[in-house]
Amino acid sequence: MKIICIGRNYIEHAKELNNPVPKKPVFFMKPDTALLQKNNPFFYPEFSKDVHYETELVLKINRNGRHIEERFANKYFDEIGIGIDFTARDVQAECKAKGLPWEIAKAFDQSAPVGKFLPKTHFPDLKNIQFMLKVNGEVRQNGTSADMIFTFDQIIAYISQFITLKTGDLIFTGTPEGVGPTSTNDHFEAFINGKKLLEFNVK
Ligand code: MG
Repeated sequence: MKIICIGRNYIEHAKELNNPVPKKPVFFMKPDTALLQKNNPFFYPEFSKDVHYETELVLKINRNGRHIEERFANKYFDEIGIGIDFTARDVQAECKAKGLPWEIAKAFDQSAPVGKFLPKTHFPDLKNIQFMLKVNGEVRQNGTSADMIFTFDQIIAYISQFITLKTGDLIFTGTPEGVGPTSTNDHFEAFINGKKLLEFNVK
């Protein structure tokens, strides 16, 4: 399986960076070795001093497809979960400054903790899914899919023009504002519509 992540997909996040709303989705990938499951601890990597959390809704792909039309895209995922797109912000800044790819800042081992998934049928409105991150009991990010620039269906249609989606692939759909640094001994809890689906410690 592979993990595909959408960059800057929330209006407030784009605004706070003084960026125009992107015309096309931006995406990058993490390998399967980035996946961290079952609420296992995240070990703070040695190569960074500024690892940030980005809380994101995650789609689970349930059939293979390429060149998927937007109007059929909803048939290609049947579960939604929550995950953290851990980012070594200092390393990323260095890569960006040099015009290099960001993989070492985004795709490292354990950089994609993912919690339990809920069936899509659980959600009355996919365009209004509330999600939240608490660190050490304090709310740090609070978002809704209503604020996404590109919808789930648009994201799937776009990615599949370039890359075949396969059963079991995960798509991280972007983070709302409020990203920030983490440190060892932090306790993460992530929720969708008030339901806790992910919980882990940083070691
Ligand atoms: Mg992200």
